[in-house]
Amino acid sequence: MPIYEYVCKSCRKEFEAIRPMSQKDEPIECEKCGSKKVRRKQSVFSARNESGSVAGTSSGCDCGSCSGGSCSSCGH
Ligand SMILES: [Zn+2]
Repeated sequence: MPIYEYVCKSCRKEFEAIRPMSQKDEPIECEKCGSKKVRRKQSVFSARNESGSVAGTSSGCDCGSCSGGSCSSCGH
């Protein structure tokens, strides 16, 4: 499951959540202050657990499973 990064608009706390891709834009509460004014950052998804390379973050697709263009899992 990909890791998504969020930033709280109320207290500016940055935190991560591991969520299914289908829930990446679902409301989430700030883990510090509980605010729901949380913005999702453009993802680095799970790259930090892998071989050190960050791929596919600049091509306009942030589904976390493809490097841009078309892929079957996110339907674009
Ligand atoms: Zn907060």
